[in-house]
Amino acid sequence: MRRESPYPMVPIDEAQRIITAHVAPLGVEEMDVLRNAADGRVLAEDIYATDPLPDVPKAAVDGYALRSADGVAPRRVIAEVTAGAAPGLRVEPGTAVRVMTGAPVPEGADAVVMVEHTEEQDGTLTVRHALSAGDNIHTVGQDIAAGQCVLTRGTTLGAAEIGLLATVGRVRVQVYRRPIVAVLATGDEVYEPDGEVFPGGVRDSNRYALMAAAREAGCEAVSLGIARDDLSVQRAAILDAVDRADVLLTSGGVSMGTRDLIKPLLAELGAVHFGRIAFKPGKPTTFATIDRPGRAAPLLVFGLPGFPVSSLVSFEVFVRPALRRLQGDARPERPRVRVTLRDPIYPSADRPEYQRAIVGWAEGRLLARSTGRQGSSRLLSMLGANAMLIVPPGTQPFPAGAELEALLTGPLAPFDE
Ligand code: AMP
Ligand code: MG
Repeated sequence: MRRESPYPMVPIDEAQRIITAHVAPLGVEEMDVLRNAADGRVLAEDIYATDPLPDVPKAAVDGYALRSADGVAPRRVIAEVTAGAAPGLRVEPGTAVRVMTGAPVPEGADAVVMVEHTEEQDGTLTVRHALSAGDNIHTVGQDIAAGQCVLTRGTTLGAAEIGLLATVGRVRVQVYRRPIVAVLATGDEVYEPDGEVFPGGVRDSNRYALMAAAREAGCEAVSLGIARDDLSVQRAAILDAVDRADVLLTSGGVSMGTRDLIKPLLAELGAVHFGRIAFKPGKPTTFATIDRPGRAAPLLVFGLPGFPVSSLVSFEVFVRPALRRLQGDARPERPRVRVTLRDPIYPSADRPEYQRAIVGWAEGRLLARSTGRQGSSRLLSMLGANAMLIVPPGTQPFPAGAELEALLTGPLAPFDE
Protein backbone atom coordinates (compact mmCIF):
# COMPACT_ATOMS: atom_id res chain seq x y z
CA MET A 1 0.00 0.00 0.00
CA ARG A 2 1.30 3.44 -0.97
CA ARG A 3 1.95 5.85 1.90
CA GLU A 4 1.86 9.05 -0.14
CA SER A 5 -0.33 10.02 -3.09
CA PRO A 6 1.64 10.43 -6.32
CA TYR A 7 -0.60 13.38 -7.20
CA PRO A 8 0.56 16.84 -6.18
CA MET A 9 -1.89 18.87 -4.14
CA VAL A 10 -3.16 21.70 -6.36
CA PRO A 11 -4.67 24.93 -5.02
CA ILE A 12 -8.43 25.40 -5.47
CA ASP A 13 -8.14 28.14 -8.08
CA GLU A 14 -5.66 26.14 -10.11
CA ALA A 15 -7.98 23.12 -10.07
CA GLN A 16 -10.80 25.37 -11.28
CA ARG A 17 -8.59 26.80 -14.04
CA ILE A 18 -7.59 23.31 -15.20
CA ILE A 19 -11.21 22.21 -15.39
CA THR A 20 -12.30 25.37 -17.21
CA ALA A 21 -9.55 24.88 -19.79
CA HIS A 22 -11.16 21.54 -20.74
CA VAL A 23 -14.72 22.80 -20.92
CA ALA A 24 -16.41 24.31 -23.96
CA PRO A 25 -20.13 24.62 -24.64
CA LEU A 26 -21.59 21.46 -26.14
CA GLY A 27 -23.58 21.66 -29.33
CA VAL A 28 -26.50 23.89 -30.09
CA GLU A 29 -30.00 22.76 -30.98
CA GLU A 30 -33.12 24.53 -32.15
CA MET A 31 -36.21 24.20 -30.06
CA ASP A 32 -39.76 25.47 -29.84
CA VAL A 33 -39.41 27.28 -26.54
CA LEU A 34 -43.11 27.80 -26.06
CA ARG A 35 -44.44 24.29 -26.54
CA ASN A 36 -41.61 22.46 -24.77
CA ALA A 37 -40.45 22.94 -21.23
CA ALA A 38 -37.67 25.34 -22.12
CA ASP A 39 -37.17 26.92 -18.73
CA GLY A 40 -33.65 26.36 -17.52
CA ARG A 41 -32.29 26.10 -21.07
CA VAL A 42 -29.55 28.54 -22.08
CA LEU A 43 -29.93 30.73 -25.17
CA ALA A 44 -27.30 30.18 -27.86
CA GLU A 45 -28.18 33.29 -29.88
CA ASP A 46 -28.95 36.96 -29.32
CA ILE A 47 -32.63 37.78 -29.78
CA TYR A 48 -33.72 41.00 -31.51
CA ALA A 49 -37.17 42.48 -31.78
CA THR A 50 -38.12 43.18 -35.38
CA ASP A 51 -41.09 45.42 -34.59
CA PRO A 52 -41.56 48.13 -31.99
CA LEU A 53 -43.83 47.46 -29.03
CA PRO A 54 -46.39 48.87 -29.04
CA ASP A 55 -46.53 49.08 -32.82
CA VAL A 56 -49.06 51.92 -32.77
CA PRO A 57 -49.84 54.46 -30.02
CA LYS A 58 -52.19 52.78 -27.56
CA ALA A 59 -54.49 53.79 -24.75
CA ALA A 60 -52.97 52.91 -21.39
CA VAL A 61 -56.31 53.14 -19.58
CA ASP A 62 -60.03 52.85 -20.26
CA GLY A 63 -61.31 56.33 -21.07
CA TYR A 64 -61.47 58.84 -23.92
CA ALA A 65 -58.94 59.84 -26.53
CA LEU A 66 -59.00 63.59 -27.06
CA ARG A 67 -56.99 66.67 -27.93
CA SER A 68 -55.30 68.18 -24.90
CA ALA A 69 -55.47 71.65 -26.46
CA ASP A 70 -59.28 71.60 -26.03
CA GLY A 71 -58.72 71.95 -22.26
CA VAL A 72 -61.82 71.29 -20.15
CA ALA A 73 -64.36 72.31 -22.82
CA PRO A 74 -67.11 69.69 -23.39
CA ARG A 75 -66.54 67.33 -26.34
CA ARG A 76 -68.76 65.34 -28.61
CA VAL A 77 -68.11 61.58 -28.36
CA ILE A 78 -67.96 60.39 -31.96
CA ALA A 79 -67.11 56.70 -31.64
CA GLU A 80 -65.78 53.88 -29.53
CA VAL A 81 -62.56 51.98 -30.22
CA THR A 82 -61.79 48.74 -28.41
CA ALA A 83 -58.52 46.83 -28.16
CA GLY A 84 -57.84 45.03 -31.40
CA ALA A 85 -59.92 47.44 -33.48
CA ALA A 86 -58.39 48.83 -36.64
CA PRO A 87 -57.22 52.46 -36.49
CA GLY A 88 -58.67 54.86 -39.04
CA LEU A 89 -60.72 57.37 -37.08
CA ARG A 90 -59.72 60.97 -36.57
CA VAL A 91 -60.32 63.10 -33.50
CA GLU A 92 -61.08 66.66 -34.61
CA PRO A 93 -61.10 69.65 -32.23
CA GLY A 94 -64.09 69.45 -29.89
CA THR A 95 -64.49 65.69 -30.23
CA ALA A 96 -63.40 62.60 -28.33
CA VAL A 97 -63.39 58.85 -28.91
CA ARG A 98 -64.23 56.34 -26.19
CA VAL A 99 -61.25 53.98 -25.97
CA MET A 100 -60.46 50.84 -24.00
CA THR A 101 -57.06 49.86 -22.61
CA GLY A 102 -54.86 48.60 -25.41
CA ALA A 103 -56.95 50.23 -28.17
CA PRO A 104 -55.10 52.19 -30.86
CA VAL A 105 -55.29 55.91 -30.18
CA PRO A 106 -57.07 57.57 -33.13
CA GLU A 107 -55.21 60.14 -35.14
CA GLY A 108 -55.58 63.70 -33.98
CA ALA A 109 -55.82 62.69 -30.30
CA ASP A 110 -52.76 63.36 -28.15
CA ALA A 111 -54.03 62.27 -24.73
CA VAL A 112 -56.35 59.79 -23.06
CA VAL A 113 -58.38 60.70 -20.00
CA MET A 114 -59.29 57.99 -17.50
CA VAL A 115 -62.98 57.16 -17.47
CA GLU A 116 -62.94 57.81 -13.70
CA HIS A 117 -62.13 61.48 -14.38
CA THR A 118 -65.00 62.09 -16.79
CA GLU A 119 -68.72 62.21 -17.23
CA GLU A 120 -70.60 61.36 -20.41
CA GLN A 121 -74.20 62.35 -21.00
CA ASP A 122 -76.17 62.27 -24.27
CA GLY A 123 -72.98 61.95 -26.26
CA THR A 124 -71.26 64.87 -24.53
CA LEU A 125 -68.11 64.34 -22.55
CA THR A 126 -66.93 66.56 -19.73
CA VAL A 127 -63.53 66.15 -18.14
CA ARG A 128 -62.70 67.22 -14.61
CA HIS A 129 -59.30 68.64 -15.39
CA ALA A 130 -57.21 69.51 -18.42
CA LEU A 131 -54.72 67.00 -19.79
CA SER A 132 -51.23 67.31 -21.15
CA ALA A 133 -50.11 65.90 -24.46
CA GLY A 134 -49.05 62.29 -24.04
CA ASP A 135 -51.12 61.56 -20.94
CA ASN A 136 -52.04 57.85 -20.71
CA ILE A 137 -50.70 57.03 -24.16
CA HIS A 138 -48.27 54.19 -24.73
CA THR A 139 -46.04 55.55 -27.46
CA VAL A 140 -44.65 53.45 -30.31
CA GLY A 141 -41.62 51.46 -29.12
CA GLN A 142 -42.04 52.60 -25.52
CA ASP A 143 -41.60 49.04 -24.21
CA ILE A 144 -39.37 47.60 -26.93
CA ALA A 145 -37.73 49.54 -29.75
CA ALA A 146 -37.60 48.11 -33.28
CA GLY A 147 -34.32 46.24 -33.70
CA GLN A 148 -33.58 46.20 -29.98
CA CYS A 149 -31.63 43.26 -28.57
CA VAL A 150 -33.95 41.88 -25.89
CA LEU A 151 -32.03 38.76 -24.81
CA THR A 152 -28.39 37.82 -25.15
CA ARG A 153 -26.67 34.52 -25.77
CA GLY A 154 -25.82 32.77 -22.51
CA THR A 155 -29.04 33.81 -20.78
CA THR A 156 -30.88 31.11 -18.85
CA LEU A 157 -34.55 30.99 -19.79
CA GLY A 158 -37.06 31.64 -17.02
CA ALA A 159 -40.56 33.04 -16.97
CA ALA A 160 -39.60 36.58 -18.04
CA GLU A 161 -37.31 35.36 -20.84
CA ILE A 162 -39.94 32.99 -22.24
CA GLY A 163 -42.49 35.81 -22.05
CA LEU A 164 -40.12 38.05 -24.02
CA LEU A 165 -39.51 35.41 -26.68
CA ALA A 166 -43.26 35.08 -27.14
CA THR A 167 -43.64 38.89 -27.19
CA VAL A 168 -41.18 39.31 -30.05
CA GLY A 169 -42.55 36.28 -31.90
CA ARG A 170 -39.44 34.09 -31.59
CA VAL A 171 -40.75 30.60 -31.01
CA ARG A 172 -37.96 28.47 -32.45
CA VAL A 173 -34.62 29.53 -31.02
CA GLN A 174 -31.10 28.16 -30.69
CA VAL A 175 -30.33 26.79 -27.24
CA TYR A 176 -27.36 24.86 -25.93
CA ARG A 177 -27.71 21.12 -25.59
CA ARG A 178 -28.14 19.83 -22.07
CA PRO A 179 -25.12 17.85 -20.85
CA ILE A 180 -25.76 14.17 -20.13
CA VAL A 181 -24.22 13.43 -16.75
CA ALA A 182 -23.68 9.78 -15.81
CA VAL A 183 -23.30 9.03 -12.12
CA LEU A 184 -21.54 5.95 -10.79
CA ALA A 185 -21.30 4.88 -7.15
CA THR A 186 -18.45 2.60 -6.15
CA GLY A 187 -17.82 0.50 -3.08
CA ASP A 188 -18.30 -3.06 -1.86
CA GLU A 189 -20.04 -1.61 1.20
CA VAL A 190 -22.51 0.49 -0.81
CA TYR A 191 -26.12 -0.70 -1.25
CA GLU A 192 -29.30 0.40 -2.98
CA PRO A 193 -31.28 2.45 -0.46
CA ASP A 194 -34.43 0.34 -0.77
CA GLY A 195 -32.77 -3.09 -0.51
CA GLU A 196 -31.16 -5.12 2.23
CA VAL A 197 -28.03 -3.56 3.77
CA PHE A 198 -25.50 -5.96 5.27
CA PRO A 199 -23.80 -5.05 8.56
CA GLY A 200 -21.19 -2.38 7.95
CA GLY A 201 -22.83 -1.35 4.70
CA VAL A 202 -24.08 2.12 3.80
CA ARG A 203 -26.97 3.17 1.64
CA ASP A 204 -25.97 4.84 -1.59
CA SER A 205 -26.89 8.44 -0.98
CA ASN A 206 -24.21 9.94 -3.21
CA ARG A 207 -25.50 8.69 -6.53
CA TYR A 208 -28.99 10.01 -5.87
CA ALA A 209 -27.80 13.30 -4.37
CA LEU A 210 -25.38 13.88 -7.27
CA MET A 211 -28.03 13.07 -9.87
CA ALA A 212 -30.33 15.60 -8.23
CA ALA A 213 -27.50 18.16 -8.13
CA ALA A 214 -26.76 17.56 -11.83
CA ARG A 215 -30.42 18.05 -12.72
CA GLU A 216 -30.53 21.24 -10.66
CA ALA A 217 -27.53 22.40 -12.69
CA GLY A 218 -29.58 21.95 -15.88
CA CYS A 219 -28.31 18.53 -16.96
CA GLU A 220 -29.87 15.20 -17.80
CA ALA A 221 -28.74 12.67 -15.18
CA VAL A 222 -28.18 8.99 -15.97
CA SER A 223 -27.53 6.35 -13.31
CA LEU A 224 -24.76 3.82 -13.88
CA GLY A 225 -25.58 1.95 -10.68
CA ILE A 226 -23.14 0.77 -8.03
CA ALA A 227 -19.83 -0.78 -9.10
CA ARG A 228 -18.03 -3.20 -6.82
CA ASP A 229 -14.42 -2.39 -5.95
CA ASP A 230 -13.16 -4.45 -8.83
CA LEU A 231 -11.03 -3.14 -11.70
CA SER A 232 -12.92 -4.82 -14.51
CA VAL A 233 -16.35 -3.89 -13.12
CA GLN A 234 -15.38 -0.25 -12.69
CA ARG A 235 -13.57 -0.15 -16.06
CA ALA A 236 -16.71 -1.42 -17.80
CA ALA A 237 -18.82 1.21 -16.05
CA ILE A 238 -16.46 4.03 -17.08
CA LEU A 239 -16.45 2.78 -20.69
CA ASP A 240 -20.25 2.79 -20.58
CA ALA A 241 -20.08 6.49 -19.72
CA VAL A 242 -17.59 7.07 -22.57
CA ASP A 243 -20.35 5.87 -24.92
CA ARG A 244 -23.34 7.54 -23.36
CA ALA A 245 -22.42 10.69 -21.49
CA ASP A 246 -20.75 14.07 -21.68
CA VAL A 247 -19.69 13.99 -18.05
CA LEU A 248 -19.08 11.16 -15.59
CA LEU A 249 -19.29 11.66 -11.86
CA THR A 250 -17.95 8.83 -9.72
CA SER A 251 -18.35 8.57 -5.98
CA GLY A 252 -15.76 6.92 -3.75
CA GLY A 253 -12.63 5.00 -4.57
CA VAL A 254 -10.33 8.02 -4.95
CA SER A 255 -8.45 7.86 -1.64
CA MET A 256 -5.36 5.93 -0.61
CA GLY A 257 -6.96 2.56 0.26
CA THR A 258 -6.04 -0.63 -1.54
CA ARG A 259 -9.57 -0.79 -2.99
CA ASP A 260 -9.49 2.77 -4.30
CA LEU A 261 -9.29 2.06 -8.03
CA ILE A 262 -10.73 5.09 -9.78
CA LYS A 263 -7.52 7.08 -10.21
CA PRO A 264 -5.47 4.23 -11.72
CA LEU A 265 -8.37 3.39 -14.02
CA LEU A 266 -8.72 6.98 -15.21
CA ALA A 267 -4.96 7.14 -15.81
CA GLU A 268 -5.23 3.93 -17.84
CA LEU A 269 -8.23 5.07 -19.93
CA GLY A 270 -7.48 8.78 -20.27
CA ALA A 271 -5.50 11.61 -18.73
CA VAL A 272 -5.69 12.60 -15.06
CA HIS A 273 -5.25 16.40 -14.81
CA PHE A 274 -5.18 16.52 -11.04
CA GLY A 275 -5.71 13.98 -8.31
CA ARG A 276 -5.66 16.03 -5.13
CA ILE A 277 -6.80 19.52 -4.16
CA ALA A 278 -5.78 21.64 -1.17
CA PHE A 279 -9.40 21.78 -0.19
CA LYS A 280 -11.66 20.57 2.58
CA PRO A 281 -13.87 18.57 2.44
CA GLY A 282 -12.85 16.73 -0.74
CA LYS A 283 -9.06 16.56 -0.91
CA PRO A 284 -8.94 13.47 -3.19
CA THR A 285 -11.23 15.02 -5.82
CA THR A 286 -9.87 14.01 -9.21
CA PHE A 287 -10.38 15.40 -12.69
CA ALA A 288 -9.67 13.45 -15.87
CA THR A 289 -10.61 13.49 -19.53
CA ILE A 290 -11.04 10.48 -21.78
CA ASP A 291 -10.71 11.12 -25.53
CA ARG A 292 -13.00 9.17 -27.79
CA PRO A 293 -12.55 8.51 -31.46
CA GLY A 294 -15.00 10.26 -33.71
CA ARG A 295 -16.28 12.64 -31.08
CA ALA A 296 -15.20 16.22 -30.71
CA ALA A 297 -15.39 16.49 -26.95
CA PRO A 298 -13.70 14.13 -24.50
CA LEU A 299 -15.63 12.58 -21.63
CA LEU A 300 -15.06 14.79 -18.59
CA VAL A 301 -14.65 12.72 -15.44
CA PHE A 302 -14.89 14.00 -11.89
CA GLY A 303 -13.78 11.43 -9.34
CA LEU A 304 -15.58 12.64 -6.22
CA PRO A 305 -14.89 11.39 -2.70
CA GLY A 306 -17.11 8.81 -1.04
CA PHE A 307 -18.07 10.79 2.02
CA PRO A 308 -21.46 12.31 1.28
CA VAL A 309 -20.65 15.88 2.29
CA SER A 310 -17.30 15.81 0.49
CA SER A 311 -18.92 14.66 -2.73
CA LEU A 312 -21.62 17.34 -2.66
CA VAL A 313 -19.32 20.18 -1.66
CA SER A 314 -16.80 19.15 -4.33
CA PHE A 315 -19.67 19.04 -6.81
CA GLU A 316 -20.67 22.58 -5.86
CA VAL A 317 -17.17 24.05 -6.06
CA PHE A 318 -15.69 22.16 -9.03
CA VAL A 319 -18.40 20.37 -11.01
CA ARG A 320 -21.33 22.74 -11.06
CA PRO A 321 -19.52 25.67 -12.72
CA ALA A 322 -18.22 23.25 -15.37
CA LEU A 323 -21.74 21.91 -16.02
CA ARG A 324 -23.02 25.46 -16.43
CA ARG A 325 -20.17 26.31 -18.83
CA LEU A 326 -20.93 23.20 -20.89
CA GLN A 327 -24.37 24.62 -21.53
CA GLY A 328 -23.10 28.08 -22.41
CA ASP A 329 -24.22 29.88 -19.26
CA ALA A 330 -22.74 33.39 -19.37
CA ARG A 331 -22.71 33.41 -15.55
CA PRO A 332 -21.65 29.91 -14.53
CA GLU A 333 -20.42 30.80 -11.04
CA ARG A 334 -22.45 31.19 -7.89
CA PRO A 335 -22.53 34.73 -6.53
CA ARG A 336 -19.76 35.50 -4.05
CA VAL A 337 -20.64 37.76 -1.14
CA ARG A 338 -19.08 39.03 2.08
CA VAL A 339 -20.86 37.83 5.19
CA THR A 340 -20.57 38.60 8.89
CA LEU A 341 -20.22 35.64 11.24
CA ARG A 342 -22.90 35.28 13.88
CA ASP A 343 -20.88 32.58 15.69
CA PRO A 344 -17.16 31.81 15.84
CA ILE A 345 -15.90 29.63 12.98
CA TYR A 346 -13.06 27.17 13.47
CA PRO A 347 -10.77 26.81 10.47
CA SER A 348 -8.91 23.73 9.33
CA ALA A 349 -5.19 23.96 10.12
CA ASP A 350 -3.83 23.12 6.70
CA ARG A 351 -6.46 23.58 3.98
CA PRO A 352 -9.06 26.17 2.96
CA GLU A 353 -12.41 24.80 4.02
CA TYR A 354 -15.85 25.35 2.54
CA GLN A 355 -18.17 25.30 5.53
CA ARG A 356 -21.91 25.05 5.12
CA ALA A 357 -23.83 28.02 6.45
CA ILE A 358 -27.20 29.70 6.50
CA VAL A 359 -27.03 33.30 5.33
CA GLY A 360 -29.77 35.85 5.79
CA TRP A 361 -30.20 39.61 5.86
CA ALA A 362 -30.15 40.90 9.43
CA GLU A 363 -29.13 44.13 11.10
CA GLY A 364 -28.33 45.69 7.73
CA ARG A 365 -25.86 43.07 6.57
CA LEU A 366 -25.56 39.46 5.45
CA LEU A 367 -25.26 37.39 8.60
CA ALA A 368 -24.02 33.78 8.50
CA ARG A 369 -24.64 31.05 11.00
CA SER A 370 -23.16 27.58 10.83
CA THR A 371 -25.21 24.47 10.10
CA GLY A 372 -23.43 22.76 13.00
CA ARG A 373 -20.78 20.07 13.04
CA GLN A 374 -19.01 20.06 9.68
CA GLY A 375 -17.98 16.37 9.54
CA SER A 376 -17.64 15.08 5.98
CA SER A 377 -20.04 12.20 6.60
CA ARG A 378 -22.68 14.39 8.27
CA LEU A 379 -25.11 15.06 5.43
CA LEU A 380 -27.25 17.00 7.90
CA SER A 381 -24.63 19.77 7.69
CA MET A 382 -25.83 20.40 4.12
CA LEU A 383 -29.44 20.70 5.18
CA GLY A 384 -30.85 24.20 4.97
CA ALA A 385 -27.48 25.55 3.87
CA ASN A 386 -27.69 28.33 1.30
CA ALA A 387 -24.03 29.28 1.42
CA MET A 388 -20.54 27.92 1.63
CA LEU A 389 -18.27 29.96 3.85
CA ILE A 390 -14.78 30.12 2.40
CA VAL A 391 -12.67 29.65 5.53
CA PRO A 392 -8.92 30.21 5.09
CA PRO A 393 -6.65 27.78 6.93
CA GLY A 394 -5.36 28.73 10.34
CA THR A 395 -5.18 27.84 14.00
CA GLN A 396 -7.25 30.67 15.50
CA PRO A 397 -11.05 30.80 15.26
CA PHE A 398 -12.70 33.60 13.30
CA PRO A 399 -14.72 35.35 16.03
CA ALA A 400 -18.37 36.35 15.83
CA GLY A 401 -18.52 39.66 13.94
CA ALA A 402 -15.61 38.79 11.63
CA GLU A 403 -16.22 38.88 7.88
CA LEU A 404 -15.61 36.04 5.44
CA GLU A 405 -16.39 35.44 1.79
CA ALA A 406 -19.12 32.98 0.92
CA LEU A 407 -20.65 31.39 -2.15
CA LEU A 408 -24.41 31.81 -2.23
CA THR A 409 -25.88 28.48 -3.26
CA GLY A 410 -29.53 29.29 -2.69
CA PRO A 411 -31.93 32.11 -1.89
CA LEU A 412 -31.33 34.15 1.26
CA ALA A 413 -32.87 32.64 4.36
CA PRO A 414 -35.27 34.40 6.69
CA PHE A 415 -33.32 35.32 9.78
CA ASP A 416 -35.55 35.06 12.76
CA GLU A 417 -33.71 32.49 14.87
P1 AMP B 1 -14.20 5.88 -0.17
O1 AMP B 1 -13.82 7.23 -0.69
O2 AMP B 1 -14.59 4.93 -1.26
O3 AMP B 1 -13.14 5.31 0.73
O4 AMP B 1 -15.49 6.10 0.71
C1 AMP B 1 -15.43 6.82 1.91
C2 AMP B 1 -16.66 6.58 2.72
O5 AMP B 1 -17.77 7.20 2.11
C3 AMP B 1 -17.09 5.12 2.81
O6 AMP B 1 -16.53 4.49 3.92
C4 AMP B 1 -18.59 5.15 2.93
O7 AMP B 1 -18.94 5.21 4.30
C5 AMP B 1 -18.95 6.44 2.30
N1 AMP B 1 -19.54 6.22 0.99
C6 AMP B 1 -18.91 5.77 -0.13
N2 AMP B 1 -19.75 5.71 -1.17
C7 AMP B 1 -20.93 6.17 -0.70
C8 AMP B 1 -22.20 6.39 -1.32
N3 AMP B 1 -22.42 6.13 -2.61
N4 AMP B 1 -23.20 6.88 -0.55
C9 AMP B 1 -22.99 7.14 0.76
N5 AMP B 1 -21.82 6.99 1.38
C10 AMP B 1 -20.79 6.49 0.67
MG1 MG C 1 -14.75 2.97 -1.48
